[in-house]
Amino acid sequence: MNDFNRYAAQMINTISKKGLVNNEEIFEAMKRVPRHLYAGIDDFEQAYGDFPVQIGDKQTISQPLMVAIMTDRLGSIKGKKILEVGTGSGYQAAVLAELGARVITVERIERLYDKAKEILNKNYPDSVTCVFGDGSMGYPEFSYYDGIIVTAGTDEVPKDLIEQLAEGGKIVIPLGSFYIHYLTIIKKLENGRLHTIKDIGCRFVPLIKDARQR
Ligand code: SAH
Repeated sequence: MNDFNRYAAQMINTISKKGLVNNEEIFEAMKRVPRHLYAGIDDFEQAYGDFPVQIGDKQTISQPLMVAIMTDRLGSIKGKKILEVGTGSGYQAAVLAELGARVITVERIERLYDKAKEILNKNYPDSVTCVFGDGSMGYPEFSYYDGIIVTAGTDEVPKDLIEQLAEGGKIVIPLGSFYIHYLTIIKKLENGRLHTIKDIGCRFVPLIKDARQR
């Protein structure tokens, strides 16, 4: 085992002890992703600690526990088409790709987009598509999505995301204000109606809306 594997195993051990998520498939996928390379950090104590880490431009790579919980709440991933709003480091997209998803991920900060695109294209050339722009409007070109994961906090679910969600699909999104959010899971039922579940409290950087909502 090299150092990265040892630290990643420790990270998963810490997460699973917290008891908020118990999904071996996700744990195994997270162990395979070299989080330090996505975070751009050589210090493994930092890269594999169970906390968010700064990635520049006032943004963070999400806490590993939060990545595991959000992925778990999306439901089954293999073979599904997932839209991620907020690529950031690319780590969450990599975890979804490891689980067998087709991932479309959108980022509005060019430097982060460029970095994430480089590593994601190298590791998942066939399963991850990186898009530069305002993801609060979704990405209609590839819709409908079986799942949509928003990794930035907002006070309301953007209408476009609901529109671009397939029937039976789920949106996982931190909802709230002033950096205090509740992870919220919204399922689009077969009749098009929405079923909302309020999950745990969390804290995210804000979802920025560059373009006016259509
Ligand atoms: N999923 C990321 C964590 C992202 S932090 C990871 O695994 O590292 C949230 C990211 O959302 C930031 O990079 C921020 O720039 C981005 N963001 C905020 N508003 C956005 C928007 N409207 N469209 C696309 N990206 C957005």
